[in-house]
This record gives sequence, structure tokens and C-alpha cells, in this order.
Amino acid sequence: MTEPTTPAGWGIQLSKLWIASGQPFPVDVKLLALEVTKQRFEDPVGLVVPHGVSGIDGMLSKRAKKGDWCISYDESVTVPGRINFTLAHELGHYFCHRQRQAEFRCGQGAMLDYYGDASRKLEKEANVFASYLLMPATDFRQQIDGQTISLELLGAVADRYETSFTATALKWLEITPEAAMLVVARDEFICWSYPSRQASSKRAYLPPGTEVPATAIERLQTATNHSGNNWCSVPPGVWHPSLEAEEAVIVSDQFELTIFLVRFPSVREVVHEEETEHDSFDVLAGLAQGFDWGR
Ligand SMILES: [Zn+2]
Repeated sequence: MTEPTTPAGWGIQLSKLWIASGQPFPVDVKLLALEVTKQRFEDPVGLVVPHGVSGIDGMLSKRAKKGDWCISYDESVTVPGRINFTLAHELGHYFCHRQRQAEFRCGQGAMLDYYGDASRKLEKEANVFASYLLMPATDFRQQIDGQTISLELLGAVADRYETSFTATALKWLEITPEAAMLVVARDEFICWSYPSRQASSKRAYLPPGTEVPATAIERLQTATNHSGNNWCSVPPGVWHPSLEAEEAVIVSDQFELTIFLVRFPSVREVVHEEETEHDSFDVLAGLAQGFDWGR
């Protein structure tokens, strides 16, 4: 098997290997890490263990005596999907970066900071790897085929892959022909937003620091059930200057984050025949540096 040269390439190859061997989802990253690296490399991942250090979600470190690698993780993390994504992230460092460093310590900040600067390049690459390994696009499309997207459906897909809601929604935005956008906010200010390809072509995007629309805040304060599955129609000028939108919202108590999923149903879907892989993590990093806008 030829060796991939990119994080996405590694993620896709290992994901295919997992499926071809008849294994079910979610990908058991621990099993995969131990088995595949043992077969292919002289310095395999020899150990995957909890480390009991809070604040460091995951670590990859070389063991001097044995010459192999250890992946360790914070087992006290209770957010669904976080541990699996962390393990995949660390495995990404192993496949893509272990020649550069003997130790990687990764925290919540590093993994969720989609707008990281160049020094965070390795973190972004590890996220890309994890996304492709855990959520293969073909299978993802099969899970949502013929259904209207909803928070509930994305939640079910997240359960299938043992990934977080955010990582799952980003993957959906990567592959959907719809115009839609994910917006993550804290304290009524937007931390980051990510449009689908089609939404991006309509310039749907809200930069970090933008205030959350007042009507959305009002709705949050009056709604009794924040994780309901209801789409709420809102006029142009709320999420986009000229487009009507539908919004759905989840409040994440754990990180005091408010996550909006926004659709622009009036924008016609365009299915690109020759679809290049549209990589949300890559685009996000590009946006941070002022590149890629309008893509
Ligand atoms: Zn990392």
C-alpha cells in the first residue's frame, strides 16, 4: 500500500481499511491504532491508555526505552464523542507528524480552535485526519440520504461515528449541496462561523466577534426547550443581508457555547459533478489568515 502524503489521505486510507475489514462504526480508534501500526511500522503505537491529567485531552509521546509510541487521553471527559475524536486526533499526529516531535500535548483549546494561526498547523492537520477517519463521506451521505437535515438527524449521525455534534455538523457542511452555515457563539458574540460551499458562494459568513442577532438571543431567552428540533424561519437581515433563513439552536452547557445551525432554503442546491474535497478544517484555517474567502 502506498503511503498517503496528506492528513486527509491518511484518514481516508485508514477509514477504507476499517470498512474493508468488515468492522462496524464507530471506528474503534484504539484497536485500529494498535493493529495497523504494529503491522506497518517499526515504531508502532504500543499503548493507548487513560492518563488522568485534566486539561490535556490527549497526548502522543515516544517511549524512550521501547522506541514505540503511547497515546494517552483524559478519561474524565464526558462530552459525547470527545474521547473518540481525541484518540483519532492523536493518531493523526502519529501518522503525519511523529518525525518532527517526540511529544504532542493537546487540549480543548488546540482541538477546537479552528481559527488557529500557522503555529497551530499541526493541530489543524490532526483534526482533518480525525474527520476523514471517523466520518467517511460516502457513508455519511448514506445516513442522511432522502431526509431533511435536522439537529436530531445530525445527532444520530454523531452517535453512529462517536463524534461531537460540532465535528459532525462541520462534516455535513463540507459535503452538502445545500446553502447552510454553522455558527458558534459565546456570551452573545460569535466565536466562529462556517458556511457550506453553496452558502459561501452567497457570502454567508459572520466574522468572529460579530454580535449574535438580537432576535436569536430573544428566542433563546424565551424558548423553554433549547435543543428542540424546530426550524424557525427568520427574515433577511438576521443571518444574511438578503436571504431568508431557518435557524435551529443547541445550547451546550458544558462550554457555555450556543451553536446555531442556519439554512438558506431559497438558495438552489447545486451538485458539483467533479467535487473536489471541500475541507472544512482547511477552509477555516485559511479564513483565519484572510485567504479563501468567497470560495
Ligand atoms: Zn494535537
